[in-house]
Amino acid sequence: MQIGTCALCGIVGKLHDSHFLLKSVYRLLRRSNNGNLSPVLMSRRASIQSDFQMKQPLLCSACERRFSENGESYVVPLLNNGRSFPLLNRLKLALPLYTTSTNSAFVCPAVGLSGGKIGYFGLSILWRAAVRQWRMFDGDATSVALDPAHLELVRGYLAGETAFPDDALAVTATVATDFLSQNLCFVPSRVTDNPGIVYSLLTKGLYYRFVFGENHPPQMRAISCIGTGPGLIFLNDASDKAWEPCAGMMETTVPKGSLAVVRS
Ligand SMILES: [Zn+2]
Repeated sequence: MQIGTCALCGIVGKLHDSHFLLKSVYRLLRRSNNGNLSPVLMSRRASIQSDFQMKQPLLCSACERRFSENGESYVVPLLNNGRSFPLLNRLKLALPLYTTSTNSAFVCPAVGLSGGKIGYFGLSILWRAAVRQWRMFDGDATSVALDPAHLELVRGYLAGETAFPDDALAVTATVATDFLSQNLCFVPSRVTDNPGIVYSLLTKGLYYRFVFGENHPPQMRAISCIGTGPGLIFLNDASDKAWEPCAGMMETTVPKGSLAVVRS
């Protein structure tokens, strides 16, 4: 173990090798593939089936534990594991708060879910992607470019130093009903077709949008899974086709390696 400064709390000590995507998510990815046991990883530019795991010394033991207890250990068992999708099953049985033509909204506490932990988990992956450069599976060094003020906002919250910054950040969580979204991991990326400062992340059927701004209106707090709003989680209604966010990412990504063979 290497000695260094923990990227989250700033304390100097032994650092753990942190994974860009959590080990537990890799395990889920491995289970969902047909024949080839390597997980499928996707970025906007490339997708590949690979055992390659991006990792580097990042967090102290206390912060590793913080990430696990506040998000990972709660959320990962709810994700699609190749045999069942507990989060989706939960919502299918629940009564929505309201339904639109494209999705249904549920109140997390009313359906026995912790919107706070779901939000924390997504933010922990976004933060990890933004705080360091990561050597990608396609050989390039890449990460998500977050405004330094926004990065610090997320860090302070994840480290437990501040309350969730409702006025400047909203996190929406949507459960996917289509097969493709349930079986992929898309690394965090900027949503380019949105005029605001928005990032997205898809991990095994759970799709996040992180909306940054100033003086968020009450409507933004109302749709966030985390914060002082009601704590909503959405279920999209597109089980018969590839869901739009996922389809959009599929358009730009180029299959490589074994995936290129599969697709051609
Ligand atoms: Zn730490």
